[in-house]
Amino acid sequence: MKIVIIGAGLSGLTAALALQKYLPPKLPSNDPLEIKIYDESETKAPGTVEYSWRDHSDIHRQQKAEQESGNKKKNQGAAISLQQNAFKSLREIDPDLANRVHASGLPCKGFTWKSRGDWLLGREDLEACLISRPVIVGILMEALCERGVRVVYRSVREVECREGVKPVVRFLGEDDEEEVADLVVGADGIRSVVRKSVFGDREGVRPVYLYVVMFPCSSDSPPLLFGPGTNHHHYSGNCAVGGVLDLPKSTPLPETYFADPRITFIHGPTGTFGYGGLSQTSPNKIIFFSFYDSDLPARGSKPDPQQVTEALRKRHQGWADPMIAQCLAQTDAIDTVYPIFYMPDLPSWGRDGCVLVGDAAHAMTPATGQGGSQAIEDGLTLALLLRTFIEVREGDHETAIRDIVPGLHAIRAEHVYAIKRAGLAIKEPARPWGWLTTLAVYGFYFVMTKVKLIKGLFGEPVYPAHLFDVRGEVERYVDARSR
Ligand SMILES: Cc1cc2nc3c(=O)[nH]c(=O)nc-3n(C[C@H](O)[C@H](O)[C@H](O)COP(=O)(O)OP(=O)(O)OC[C@H]3O[C@@H](n4cnc5c(N)ncnc54)[C@H](O)[C@@H]3O)c2cc1C
Repeated sequence: MKIVIIGAGLSGLTAALALQKYLPPKLPSNDPLEIKIYDESETKAPGTVEYSWRDHSDIHRQQKAEQESGNKKKNQGAAISLQQNAFKSLREIDPDLANRVHASGLPCKGFTWKSRGDWLLGREDLEACLISRPVIVGILMEALCERGVRVVYRSVREVECREGVKPVVRFLGEDDEEEVADLVVGADGIRSVVRKSVFGDREGVRPVYLYVVMFPCSSDSPPLLFGPGTNHHHYSGNCAVGGVLDLPKSTPLPETYFADPRITFIHGPTGTFGYGGLSQTSPNKIIFFSFYDSDLPARGSKPDPQQVTEALRKRHQGWADPMIAQCLAQTDAIDTVYPIFYMPDLPSWGRDGCVLVGDAAHAMTPATGQGGSQAIEDGLTLALLLRTFIEVREGDHETAIRDIVPGLHAIRAEHVYAIKRAGLAIKEPARPWGWLTTLAVYGFYFVMTKVKLIKGLFGEPVYPAHLFDVRGEVERYVDARSR
Protein backbone atom coordinates (compact mmCIF):
# COMPACT_ATOMS: atom_id res chain seq x y z
CA MET A 1 0.00 0.00 0.00
CA LYS A 2 1.53 3.29 -1.07
CA ILE A 3 0.67 6.47 0.84
CA VAL A 4 1.87 9.78 -0.59
CA ILE A 5 1.70 12.77 1.75
CA ILE A 6 1.96 16.18 0.13
CA GLY A 7 3.35 18.77 2.55
CA ALA A 8 5.90 18.40 5.35
CA GLY A 9 4.31 20.88 7.77
CA LEU A 10 2.88 19.89 11.15
CA SER A 11 -0.06 17.94 9.72
CA GLY A 12 1.95 16.04 7.07
CA LEU A 13 4.84 15.16 9.36
CA THR A 14 2.54 14.02 12.19
CA ALA A 15 0.45 11.99 9.77
CA ALA A 16 3.61 10.30 8.46
CA LEU A 17 4.90 9.50 11.96
CA ALA A 18 1.54 8.15 13.10
CA LEU A 19 0.94 6.10 9.92
CA GLN A 20 4.42 4.62 10.27
CA LYS A 21 3.69 3.73 13.90
CA TYR A 22 0.19 2.29 13.56
CA LEU A 23 0.15 0.56 10.18
CA PRO A 24 1.71 -2.89 9.84
CA PRO A 25 4.86 -2.94 7.64
CA LYS A 26 3.08 -5.59 5.55
CA LEU A 27 -0.64 -6.04 5.01
CA PRO A 28 -2.16 -9.55 5.23
CA SER A 29 -2.06 -9.61 1.40
CA ASN A 30 1.76 -9.36 1.70
CA ASP A 31 1.58 -5.87 0.22
CA PRO A 32 4.37 -3.77 1.86
CA LEU A 33 3.63 -0.34 3.34
CA GLU A 34 5.36 2.59 1.64
CA ILE A 35 5.04 6.14 2.97
CA LYS A 36 6.49 9.07 1.02
CA ILE A 37 6.34 12.80 1.71
CA TYR A 38 6.78 15.53 -0.89
CA ASP A 39 7.42 19.12 0.10
CA GLU A 40 8.15 22.07 -2.13
CA SER A 41 9.97 24.17 0.45
CA GLU A 42 13.54 23.48 -0.64
CA THR A 43 12.72 23.01 -4.29
CA LYS A 44 15.01 25.27 -6.24
CA ALA A 45 14.59 23.60 -9.60
CA PRO A 46 12.63 20.59 -10.79
CA GLY A 47 14.21 17.46 -9.40
CA THR A 48 14.58 15.81 -6.05
CA VAL A 49 16.66 16.59 -3.02
CA GLU A 50 16.19 14.24 -0.13
CA TYR A 51 16.10 15.61 3.36
CA SER A 52 19.34 15.36 5.25
CA TRP A 53 19.27 16.02 8.93
CA ARG A 54 21.21 18.72 10.75
CA ASP A 55 21.20 19.37 14.48
CA HIS A 56 18.14 21.52 15.25
CA SER A 57 19.93 23.39 18.02
CA ASP A 58 22.02 24.93 15.24
CA ILE A 59 19.12 26.08 13.11
CA HIS A 60 18.79 29.57 14.62
CA ARG A 61 22.54 30.15 14.43
CA GLN A 62 22.65 28.97 10.82
CA GLN A 63 19.69 31.14 9.81
CA LYS A 64 21.28 34.18 11.40
CA ALA A 65 24.59 33.52 9.67
CA GLU A 66 22.79 33.02 6.37
CA GLN A 67 20.92 36.28 6.79
CA GLU A 68 24.07 38.17 7.76
CA SER A 69 25.92 36.83 4.76
CA GLY A 70 23.03 37.84 2.52
CA ASN A 71 22.22 34.22 1.68
CA LYS A 72 18.61 34.23 2.76
CA LYS A 73 16.77 30.95 2.55
CA LYS A 74 13.08 30.43 2.32
CA ASN A 75 11.54 31.40 5.65
CA GLN A 76 9.83 28.48 7.36
CA GLY A 77 7.84 30.90 9.48
CA ALA A 78 8.59 32.39 12.85
CA ALA A 79 7.22 30.55 15.86
CA ILE A 80 4.10 28.81 17.00
CA SER A 81 2.39 28.11 20.29
CA LEU A 82 1.24 24.54 20.75
CA GLN A 83 -1.34 23.66 23.36
CA GLN A 84 -1.92 20.59 25.52
CA ASN A 85 -3.94 18.74 22.91
CA ALA A 86 -0.98 18.86 20.49
CA PHE A 87 1.29 17.32 23.13
CA LYS A 88 -1.33 14.68 23.98
CA SER A 89 -1.28 13.57 20.32
CA LEU A 90 2.51 13.69 20.06
CA ARG A 91 2.83 11.66 23.30
CA GLU A 92 0.47 9.07 21.84
CA ILE A 93 2.81 8.68 18.86
CA ASP A 94 6.05 8.78 20.86
CA PRO A 95 6.47 10.15 24.42
CA ASP A 96 10.18 10.86 23.82
CA LEU A 97 9.36 12.86 20.73
CA ALA A 98 6.77 14.92 22.66
CA ASN A 99 9.36 15.56 25.39
CA ARG A 100 11.93 16.65 22.82
CA VAL A 101 9.51 19.17 21.31
CA HIS A 102 8.50 20.44 24.76
CA ALA A 103 12.12 20.82 25.89
CA SER A 104 13.03 22.74 22.72
CA GLY A 105 10.44 25.48 23.27
CA LEU A 106 9.36 27.59 26.19
CA PRO A 107 6.46 26.10 28.16
CA CYS A 108 4.17 28.99 29.15
CA LYS A 109 1.52 29.15 31.83
CA GLY A 110 -0.88 31.31 29.85
CA PHE A 111 -1.34 34.99 29.09
CA THR A 112 -0.69 38.30 30.81
CA TRP A 113 -2.83 41.25 29.73
CA LYS A 114 -1.52 44.74 30.42
CA SER A 115 -2.29 48.37 29.56
CA ARG A 116 0.17 50.55 27.63
CA GLY A 117 1.05 52.20 30.94
CA ASP A 118 2.11 48.75 32.24
CA TRP A 119 -0.91 48.24 34.50
CA LEU A 120 -1.70 44.57 34.96
CA LEU A 121 -5.23 43.95 33.64
CA GLY A 122 -5.23 40.25 34.41
CA ARG A 123 -3.68 36.84 33.87
CA GLU A 124 -5.22 33.85 32.21
CA ASP A 125 -4.05 30.27 32.65
CA LEU A 126 -3.54 28.10 29.60
CA GLU A 127 -0.66 25.68 29.24
CA ALA A 128 1.07 26.26 25.93
CA CYS A 129 4.56 25.87 24.55
CA LEU A 130 6.05 28.58 22.36
CA ILE A 131 8.48 27.07 19.90
CA SER A 132 10.35 28.18 16.82
CA ARG A 133 8.79 26.65 13.69
CA PRO A 134 12.04 25.53 12.06
CA VAL A 135 12.93 23.82 15.33
CA ILE A 136 9.71 21.80 15.65
CA VAL A 137 9.70 20.93 11.95
CA GLY A 138 13.34 19.84 12.33
CA ILE A 139 12.54 17.60 15.31
CA LEU A 140 9.64 15.89 13.50
CA MET A 141 11.78 15.46 10.37
CA GLU A 142 14.56 13.95 12.43
CA ALA A 143 12.13 11.47 13.96
CA LEU A 144 10.93 10.51 10.47
CA CYS A 145 14.49 10.05 9.20
CA GLU A 146 15.20 7.78 12.18
CA ARG A 147 12.21 5.66 11.13
CA GLY A 148 13.34 5.48 7.52
CA VAL A 149 10.56 7.63 6.01
CA ARG A 150 11.74 9.81 3.16
CA VAL A 151 10.94 13.48 2.63
CA VAL A 152 11.51 14.41 -0.99
CA TYR A 153 11.70 18.05 -2.02
CA ARG A 154 9.48 18.39 -5.03
CA SER A 155 6.61 20.67 -5.89
CA VAL A 156 3.34 18.92 -6.65
CA ARG A 157 1.32 20.46 -9.48
CA GLU A 158 -1.90 18.48 -9.27
CA VAL A 159 -3.45 15.23 -8.16
CA GLU A 160 -5.81 13.47 -10.47
CA CYS A 161 -8.59 11.80 -8.51
CA ARG A 162 -11.30 9.90 -10.33
CA GLU A 163 -13.87 7.41 -9.17
CA GLY A 164 -12.72 3.80 -9.39
CA VAL A 165 -9.05 4.63 -10.11
CA LYS A 166 -6.08 5.24 -7.82
CA PRO A 167 -5.03 8.90 -7.43
CA VAL A 168 -2.15 10.13 -9.59
CA VAL A 169 0.33 12.78 -8.39
CA ARG A 170 1.97 15.10 -10.97
CA PHE A 171 4.92 17.41 -10.36
CA LEU A 172 5.70 20.98 -11.32
CA GLY A 173 7.99 21.25 -14.32
CA GLU A 174 8.02 17.50 -14.91
CA ASP A 175 5.22 16.93 -17.36
CA ASP A 176 5.91 13.31 -18.08
CA GLU A 177 6.46 12.08 -14.55
CA GLU A 178 3.67 10.91 -12.32
CA GLU A 179 3.21 8.75 -9.27
CA VAL A 180 0.27 6.50 -8.54
CA ALA A 181 -0.69 5.99 -4.89
CA ASP A 182 -3.35 4.12 -2.96
CA LEU A 183 -3.89 7.13 -0.71
CA VAL A 184 -2.88 10.76 -1.20
CA VAL A 185 -2.88 12.93 1.93
CA GLY A 186 -3.22 16.64 1.14
CA ALA A 187 -1.25 18.26 3.96
CA ASP A 188 -0.19 21.15 1.76
CA GLY A 189 -1.56 24.07 3.70
CA ILE A 190 -3.90 26.94 2.93
CA ARG A 191 -3.02 27.12 -0.80
CA SER A 192 -3.44 23.37 -1.19
CA VAL A 193 -3.14 22.00 -4.71
CA VAL A 194 -4.69 18.76 -3.49
CA ARG A 195 -7.79 20.66 -2.36
CA LYS A 196 -7.96 22.37 -5.76
CA SER A 197 -7.66 19.00 -7.47
CA VAL A 198 -10.48 17.59 -5.35
CA PHE A 199 -12.89 20.53 -5.31
CA GLY A 200 -11.76 22.92 -8.05
CA ASP A 201 -11.22 26.61 -7.37
CA ARG A 202 -14.46 28.45 -6.78
CA GLU A 203 -16.20 30.47 -4.11
CA GLY A 204 -17.07 28.30 -1.14
CA VAL A 205 -14.03 26.01 -1.44
CA ARG A 206 -11.47 28.80 -1.77
CA PRO A 207 -9.62 30.46 1.16
CA VAL A 208 -11.19 33.65 2.51
CA TYR A 209 -8.84 36.60 2.99
CA LEU A 210 -8.99 38.02 6.48
CA TYR A 211 -5.96 40.17 7.17
CA VAL A 212 -2.24 40.52 6.67
CA VAL A 213 0.76 39.73 8.85
CA MET A 214 4.23 41.02 8.10
CA PHE A 215 7.57 39.73 9.33
CA PRO A 216 11.11 40.95 8.90
CA CYS A 217 14.10 39.05 7.55
CA SER A 218 13.25 37.09 4.46
CA SER A 219 14.02 37.53 0.81
CA ASP A 220 11.05 35.74 -0.63
CA SER A 221 7.96 37.70 0.32
CA PRO A 222 5.00 36.88 -1.88
CA PRO A 223 5.06 39.61 -4.52
CA LEU A 224 1.45 40.67 -4.10
CA LEU A 225 -0.67 41.11 -1.05
CA PHE A 226 -3.68 39.80 -2.87
CA GLY A 227 -3.41 37.42 -5.76
CA PRO A 228 -6.00 37.01 -8.47
CA GLY A 229 -9.22 35.44 -7.27
CA THR A 230 -8.70 36.52 -3.67
CA ASN A 231 -11.94 37.02 -1.84
CA HIS A 232 -11.90 40.51 -0.30
CA HIS A 233 -15.40 40.55 1.17
CA HIS A 234 -14.30 39.48 4.62
CA TYR A 235 -11.38 41.83 5.13
CA SER A 236 -11.31 42.34 8.89
CA GLY A 237 -9.45 45.63 8.94
CA ASN A 238 -6.72 44.08 11.12
CA CYS A 239 -3.05 43.77 10.28
CA ALA A 240 -0.14 42.35 12.22
CA VAL A 241 3.59 42.84 12.12
CA GLY A 242 6.02 40.67 14.01
CA GLY A 243 9.24 38.76 14.11
CA VAL A 244 11.67 36.57 15.97
CA LEU A 245 14.58 38.46 17.52
CA ASP A 246 17.83 37.74 19.28
CA LEU A 247 18.00 40.37 22.01
CA PRO A 248 21.48 41.63 22.89
CA LYS A 249 23.27 39.37 25.40
CA SER A 250 23.32 42.21 27.95
CA THR A 251 19.53 42.67 27.90
CA PRO A 252 17.76 39.29 27.77
CA LEU A 253 14.22 38.66 28.95
CA PRO A 254 14.32 39.33 32.71
CA GLU A 255 14.58 36.41 35.17
CA THR A 256 11.15 37.37 36.57
CA TYR A 257 9.71 36.51 33.15
CA PHE A 258 10.97 32.92 33.40
CA ALA A 259 9.59 32.55 36.94
CA ASP A 260 6.08 32.82 35.44
CA PRO A 261 6.45 32.64 31.65
CA ARG A 262 3.37 33.89 29.82
CA ILE A 263 2.60 35.31 26.41
CA THR A 264 2.20 39.01 27.16
CA PHE A 265 -0.36 41.22 25.41
CA ILE A 266 -0.27 44.99 25.94
CA HIS A 267 -3.30 46.95 24.78
CA GLY A 268 -3.35 50.59 23.82
CA PRO A 269 -5.37 53.02 21.71
CA THR A 270 -3.18 52.54 18.60
CA GLY A 271 -2.64 48.78 18.71
CA THR A 272 -1.79 45.69 20.72
CA PHE A 273 1.81 44.64 21.31
CA GLY A 274 2.62 41.05 22.25
CA TYR A 275 5.75 39.08 23.05
CA GLY A 276 6.94 35.80 24.48
CA GLY A 277 10.19 33.93 25.08
CA LEU A 278 10.98 31.06 22.74
CA SER A 279 13.52 28.96 24.58
CA GLN A 280 14.29 27.69 28.07
CA THR A 281 17.99 27.77 27.40
CA SER A 282 18.31 31.03 25.47
CA PRO A 283 16.73 34.00 27.30
CA ASN A 284 17.56 36.24 24.33
CA LYS A 285 15.26 34.53 21.87
CA ILE A 286 11.91 36.33 21.65
CA ILE A 287 8.92 36.57 19.33
CA PHE A 288 7.01 39.83 19.18
CA PHE A 289 3.94 41.00 17.29
CA SER A 290 1.92 44.17 16.91
CA PHE A 291 -1.74 44.21 15.86
CA TYR A 292 -3.30 47.33 14.39
CA ASP A 293 -6.05 48.46 12.04
CA SER A 294 -5.61 49.47 8.45
CA ASP A 295 -7.74 50.04 5.38
CA LEU A 296 -7.78 47.32 2.77
CA PRO A 297 -4.61 47.81 0.69
CA ALA A 298 -5.13 48.16 -3.05
CA ARG A 299 -5.16 44.94 -5.05
CA GLY A 300 -1.66 44.08 -6.17
CA SER A 301 0.00 46.59 -3.86
CA LYS A 302 3.24 45.87 -1.99
CA PRO A 303 4.01 47.14 1.49
CA ASP A 304 7.02 49.45 1.80
CA PRO A 305 9.26 47.76 4.44
CA GLN A 306 10.64 51.07 5.68
CA GLN A 307 7.18 52.59 6.11
CA VAL A 308 5.87 49.49 7.88
CA THR A 309 8.78 49.59 10.34
CA GLU A 310 8.42 53.31 10.99
CA ALA A 311 4.68 52.92 11.57
CA LEU A 312 5.39 50.08 14.02
CA ARG A 313 7.76 52.29 16.03
CA LYS A 314 5.33 55.19 16.02
CA ARG A 315 2.43 53.00 17.13
CA HIS A 316 4.14 51.85 20.31
CA GLN A 317 6.45 54.75 21.05
CA GLY A 318 6.54 55.57 24.77
CA TRP A 319 4.72 52.42 25.91
CA ALA A 320 5.92 51.51 29.37
CA ASP A 321 6.97 47.84 29.18
CA PRO A 322 10.76 48.01 28.51
CA MET A 323 10.60 44.91 26.30
CA ILE A 324 8.67 46.96 23.69
CA ALA A 325 11.44 49.54 23.27
CA GLN A 326 13.96 46.68 22.99
CA CYS A 327 12.00 44.97 20.22
CA LEU A 328 11.46 48.23 18.34
CA ALA A 329 15.16 49.06 18.49
CA GLN A 330 16.12 45.59 17.21
CA THR A 331 13.67 45.43 14.31
CA ASP A 332 15.00 45.99 10.81
CA ALA A 333 12.99 46.45 7.67
CA ILE A 334 9.86 44.33 7.71
CA ASP A 335 9.64 42.72 4.31
CA THR A 336 7.80 39.41 4.61
CA VAL A 337 4.08 39.44 4.21
CA TYR A 338 1.67 36.74 5.24
CA PRO A 339 -1.85 37.42 4.12
CA ILE A 340 -4.11 35.58 6.56
CA PHE A 341 -6.86 33.41 5.16
CA TYR A 342 -9.27 30.97 6.65
CA MET A 343 -11.14 28.17 4.94
CA PRO A 344 -14.90 28.18 4.72
CA ASP A 345 -16.49 24.97 6.05
CA LEU A 346 -16.00 22.28 3.40
CA PRO A 347 -18.74 19.70 2.90
CA SER A 348 -16.14 16.90 2.87
CA TRP A 349 -12.37 16.55 3.16
CA GLY A 350 -11.69 14.49 0.09
CA ARG A 351 -12.80 11.83 -2.36
CA ASP A 352 -11.52 8.97 -4.49
CA GLY A 353 -8.37 8.17 -2.50
CA CYS A 354 -7.47 11.78 -1.60
CA VAL A 355 -7.95 13.17 1.88
CA LEU A 356 -7.18 16.63 3.29
CA VAL A 357 -5.69 17.37 6.71
CA GLY A 358 -4.58 20.50 8.59
CA ASP A 359 -4.83 23.93 6.98
CA ALA A 360 -5.64 22.42 3.58
CA ALA A 361 -8.95 21.26 5.09
CA HIS A 362 -9.74 23.87 7.72
CA ALA A 363 -7.29 26.79 8.08
CA MET A 364 -8.39 28.99 10.96
CA THR A 365 -7.26 32.40 12.18
CA PRO A 366 -4.12 32.63 14.34
CA ALA A 367 -6.36 34.12 17.06
CA THR A 368 -7.51 30.58 17.94
CA GLY A 369 -3.92 29.55 18.78
CA GLN A 370 -5.07 26.10 17.65
CA GLY A 371 -4.29 25.73 13.91
CA GLY A 372 -1.06 23.81 14.53
CA SER A 373 -2.47 21.72 17.37
CA GLN A 374 -5.50 20.75 15.26
CA ALA A 375 -3.18 19.87 12.35
CA ILE A 376 -1.30 17.50 14.66
CA GLU A 377 -4.56 15.94 15.92
CA ASP A 378 -5.68 15.40 12.30
CA GLY A 379 -2.51 13.44 11.53
CA LEU A 380 -3.02 11.13 14.49
CA THR A 381 -6.75 10.67 13.78
CA LEU A 382 -6.07 9.76 10.16
CA ALA A 383 -3.55 7.06 11.11
CA LEU A 384 -5.66 5.52 13.89
CA LEU A 385 -8.71 5.51 11.65
CA LEU A 386 -6.90 3.81 8.78
CA ARG A 387 -5.35 1.22 11.09
CA THR A 388 -8.72 0.43 12.68
CA PHE A 389 -10.54 0.16 9.35
CA ILE A 390 -7.81 -2.09 7.93
CA GLU A 391 -8.27 -4.39 10.94
CA VAL A 392 -12.06 -4.33 10.71
CA ARG A 393 -11.93 -4.95 6.94
CA GLU A 394 -9.46 -7.80 7.51
CA GLY A 395 -6.65 -6.26 5.51
CA ASP A 396 -8.76 -4.95 2.63
CA HIS A 397 -6.98 -1.60 2.41
CA GLU A 398 -8.91 -0.36 -0.63
CA THR A 399 -12.19 -0.49 1.29
CA ALA A 400 -10.47 0.93 4.37
CA ILE A 401 -9.21 3.92 2.35
CA ARG A 402 -12.68 4.47 0.91
CA ASP A 403 -14.04 4.50 4.48
CA ILE A 404 -11.52 6.87 6.05
CA VAL A 405 -12.23 9.76 3.68
CA PRO A 406 -15.77 10.45 4.99
CA GLY A 407 -14.68 9.11 8.39
CA LEU A 408 -12.05 11.75 9.06
CA HIS A 409 -14.53 14.51 8.23
CA ALA A 410 -17.27 12.95 10.35
CA ILE A 411 -14.96 12.62 13.37
CA ARG A 412 -13.17 15.94 13.18
CA ALA A 413 -15.12 18.58 11.25
CA GLU A 414 -17.67 19.66 13.84
CA HIS A 415 -15.03 20.06 16.54
CA VAL A 416 -12.57 21.90 14.31
CA TYR A 417 -15.21 24.19 12.81
CA ALA A 418 -16.40 25.19 16.30
CA ILE A 419 -12.84 26.31 17.17
CA LYS A 420 -12.58 28.16 13.85
CA ARG A 421 -15.87 29.99 14.50
CA ALA A 422 -14.75 30.97 18.01
CA GLY A 423 -11.60 32.48 16.46
CA LEU A 424 -13.59 34.45 13.90
CA ALA A 425 -15.83 35.80 16.66
CA ILE A 426 -12.89 37.45 18.46
CA LYS A 427 -13.17 41.12 17.59
CA GLU A 428 -11.95 44.31 19.21
CA PRO A 429 -13.36 47.79 18.57
CA ALA A 430 -11.85 49.51 15.53
CA ARG A 431 -8.79 51.65 16.28
CA PRO A 432 -7.67 54.27 17.09
CA TRP A 433 -9.54 54.15 20.40
CA GLY A 434 -10.68 57.25 22.26
CA TRP A 435 -10.17 57.34 26.04
CA LEU A 436 -13.66 55.94 26.71
CA THR A 437 -13.15 52.91 24.45
CA THR A 438 -9.69 52.38 25.91
CA LEU A 439 -11.13 52.32 29.43
CA ALA A 440 -13.93 49.98 28.33
CA VAL A 441 -11.41 47.53 26.78
CA TYR A 442 -9.21 47.63 29.89
CA GLY A 443 -12.33 47.00 32.01
CA PHE A 444 -13.32 44.10 29.76
CA TYR A 445 -9.96 42.35 30.18
CA PHE A 446 -9.98 43.02 33.93
CA VAL A 447 -13.42 41.42 34.35
CA MET A 448 -12.98 38.64 31.73
CA THR A 449 -9.82 37.29 33.37
CA LYS A 450 -11.54 37.18 36.80
CA VAL A 451 -14.63 35.44 35.39
CA LYS A 452 -12.48 32.82 33.66
CA LEU A 453 -10.53 32.33 36.88
CA ILE A 454 -13.75 31.73 38.85
CA LYS A 455 -15.10 29.35 36.16
CA GLY A 456 -11.80 27.46 36.30
CA LEU A 457 -12.12 27.11 40.09
CA PHE A 458 -15.45 25.34 39.54
CA GLY A 459 -13.87 22.99 37.03
CA GLU A 460 -15.64 24.47 34.00
CA PRO A 461 -13.47 24.00 30.90
CA VAL A 462 -12.55 27.37 29.43
CA TYR A 463 -10.83 25.79 26.41
CA PRO A 464 -12.90 22.83 25.11
CA ALA A 465 -10.29 22.25 22.35
CA HIS A 466 -8.35 20.21 24.87
CA LEU A 467 -11.15 17.78 25.42
CA PHE A 468 -10.99 15.99 22.07
CA ASP A 469 -10.24 12.32 22.62
CA VAL A 470 -8.74 11.14 19.32
CA ARG A 471 -8.54 7.45 20.19
CA GLY A 472 -12.03 7.35 21.76
CA GLU A 473 -13.65 9.23 18.85
CA VAL A 474 -12.07 6.88 16.30
CA GLU A 475 -13.22 3.79 18.20
CA ARG A 476 -16.76 5.17 18.57
CA TYR A 477 -16.99 6.01 14.87
CA VAL A 478 -15.67 2.68 13.61
CA ASP A 479 -17.87 0.77 16.11
CA ALA A 480 -20.96 2.59 14.91
CA ARG A 481 -20.07 1.92 11.24
CA SER A 482 -19.27 -1.76 11.72
CA ARG A 483 -22.44 -2.67 13.58
C1 LIG B 1 0.98 34.34 11.36
C2 LIG B 1 0.46 33.01 11.84
C3 LIG B 1 0.56 32.70 13.18
C4 LIG B 1 0.07 31.47 13.64
N1 LIG B 1 0.20 31.15 14.96
C5 LIG B 1 -0.23 29.96 15.40
C6 LIG B 1 -0.04 29.58 16.76
O1 LIG B 1 0.53 30.30 17.56
N2 LIG B 1 -0.50 28.36 17.16
C7 LIG B 1 -1.11 27.50 16.29
O2 LIG B 1 -1.48 26.39 16.70
N3 LIG B 1 -1.28 27.82 14.99
C8 LIG B 1 -0.86 29.02 14.53
N4 LIG B 1 -1.02 29.34 13.22
C9 LIG B 1 -1.65 28.35 12.32
C10 LIG B 1 -0.67 27.23 11.98
O3 LIG B 1 0.52 27.79 11.50
C11 LIG B 1 -1.24 26.29 10.93
O4 LIG B 1 -2.54 25.93 11.29
C12 LIG B 1 -0.39 25.03 10.78
O5 LIG B 1 0.95 25.37 10.49
C13 LIG B 1 -0.97 24.14 9.70
O6 LIG B 1 -0.06 23.10 9.42
P1 LIG B 1 -0.18 22.32 8.04
O7 LIG B 1 0.85 21.25 8.12
O8 LIG B 1 -1.58 21.89 7.80
O9 LIG B 1 0.16 23.37 6.92
P2 LIG B 1 1.53 24.16 6.64
O10 LIG B 1 2.26 24.42 7.89
O11 LIG B 1 1.14 25.32 5.79
O12 LIG B 1 2.41 23.15 5.78
C14 LIG B 1 2.12 22.89 4.43
C15 LIG B 1 3.36 22.30 3.78
O13 LIG B 1 3.02 21.91 2.46
C16 LIG B 1 4.05 22.29 1.58
N5 LIG B 1 3.45 22.49 0.25
C17 LIG B 1 2.53 23.40 -0.09
N6 LIG B 1 2.19 23.28 -1.38
C18 LIG B 1 2.92 22.24 -1.86
C19 LIG B 1 3.04 21.64 -3.14
N7 LIG B 1 2.32 22.06 -4.20
N8 LIG B 1 3.90 20.61 -3.30
C20 LIG B 1 4.65 20.15 -2.26
N9 LIG B 1 4.57 20.70 -1.03
C21 LIG B 1 3.72 21.73 -0.84
C22 LIG B 1 4.63 23.57 2.18
O14 LIG B 1 5.97 23.78 1.76
C23 LIG B 1 4.52 23.28 3.68
O15 LIG B 1 5.70 22.69 4.18
C24 LIG B 1 -0.56 30.57 12.74
C25 LIG B 1 -0.66 30.90 11.38
C26 LIG B 1 -0.16 32.11 10.94
C27 LIG B 1 -0.26 32.43 9.47
